[in-house]
Amino acid sequence: MLRISTNENTAGGRLVESQPFCFIGNKPIIRQGDLVFPHLPCPDQPQHCAANMMTASIVTYVANIGVVRESDLASCGHVADGNLFVYSI
Ligand SMILES: [Zn+2]
Repeated sequence: MLRISTNENTAGGRLVESQPFCFIGNKPIIRQGDLVFPHLPCPDQPQHCAANMMTASIVTYVANIGVVRESDLASCGHVADGNLFVYSI
């Protein structure tokens, strides 16, 4: 079981939610395709300036899009971390 990511979590940079209706502890859940805020080593390595979440759960969804969990991969190569309390496979 992996911790589900919210906009309090990061994958190099803070994760940016694309949906406003499903939360953990008042923080919006992050889903596949959601943006990662620009982070170092941006701008020297531009893939870290405009990254999004590439992998997600294939069993847990919010509005038909898989939820991001700790260890899911961003397009820049960073991995997400997760919240303390709620898990998914
Ligand atoms: Zn990155």
